[in-house]
Amino acid sequence: MAYFLARAGARVTVVDAGLHRASGVPSALINPVRGQSGGVDARALDGMAFTWALLRELCAAGWAVPHGQTGVLRPIPDDRTRARFERNLPAALRHGWLTPADAPEPLTPGWAHVLHLPEGGWVDGPAFTRALVRASGAQVVTGRALDWTACTVTLADGDPLRRDTLHADAVVFCGGSVGSAWRGEAGTHRMGSLLTLDRAVTGVPVSFGAYLAPAAAGGVLGATFETPAPTWAPEGLPLGSLGWLLGKGAALTGLRGARVTGRWTGSRLSGLRAGLQPDGSWRLSGLSSKGFLLGPLLAHDLAARLMASPESPRPAG
Ligand SMILES: Cc1cc2nc3c(=O)[nH]c(=O)nc-3n(C[C@H](O)[C@H](O)[C@H](O)COP(=O)(O)OP(=O)(O)OC[C@H]3O[C@@H](n4cnc5c(N)ncnc54)[C@H](O)[C@@H]3O)c2cc1C
Repeated sequence: MAYFLARAGARVTVVDAGLHRASGVPSALINPVRGQSGGVDARALDGMAFTWALLRELCAAGWAVPHGQTGVLRPIPDDRTRARFERNLPAALRHGWLTPADAPEPLTPGWAHVLHLPEGGWVDGPAFTRALVRASGAQVVTGRALDWTACTVTLADGDPLRRDTLHADAVVFCGGSVGSAWRGEAGTHRMGSLLTLDRAVTGVPVSFGAYLAPAAAGGVLGATFETPAPTWAPEGLPLGSLGWLLGKGAALTGLRGARVTGRWTGSRLSGLRAGLQPDGSWRLSGLSSKGFLLGPLLAHDLAARLMASPESPRPAG
């Protein structure tokens, strides 16, 4: 949001606690065909093209954002699942069906088909979001917003008598899973983990149930797979979940000797809310598992709506 608002002429201040960011995912897929049912969001194709164009724009401007439009492979376990995927594939989506023997990455035996999505790929989440904020030129206030209205943000401070209030022409909430929980809202939150690996197991991301993907340094094996919960919870990877994840990696291609170097856990929020809120503030949240696929496009559209609204911020300068 900061990037597109600034580009439209607004002077932007980002208030960010910088905690529990789902966007910190070390390697996120840009994958238009989702989950184990092959659902394709109505805006997936536009969103995917928009994200790649934005990455090209940032890189051309000198921002280093590791990513790869390498394509994505979706191994499919059986004919029924393939039929379900085929029903969901829009005609405009470039794709191909391969036999496992013809897949560009050797798969663990047992898969029936492979869906190849040549326009998909991966991106380094922290580098992408950091570059967007820096390129926006926004002033960044590191701290937590306790409350906000259509045109004020009250910052949390140890001393309630000395709380700072920021004033603006418009306020946009993009607080993700943790922010919604801090706000005391009911919601659907889902935690997941990535194991970071000392090297990429595959050059092309492979995804079904979990994903293997290259990353800026090495690779990842991850998924959002914990039981959905009504609120955000502190990040953790129970031993059973670790076993489940390693089992999924073995079922995709095997780790082929790659070593686990670390772990990243995050929580994402479902239930997209993009627009003007009843209190007069704006909001973009609930990007679910499509934050990198749809987030930039939705942010661009929302920024345009905000700037065109009667109370829009006056262009800076
Ligand atoms: C394990 C996992 C894997 C994923 N993989 C993919 C993938 O492959 N592809 C994909 O497209 N998406 C993926 N996602 C989803 C994606 O990460 C999210 O959709 C996206 O990052 C959400 O971004 P956001 O900006 O809404 O929230 P966040 O990135 O969570 O950012 C919210 C920020 O707001 C701050 N904040 C909240 N409330 C306040 C407040 N009151 N005051 C100040 N600051 C506040 C927080 O501290 C945080 O820094 C994955 C998510 C997880 C958890």
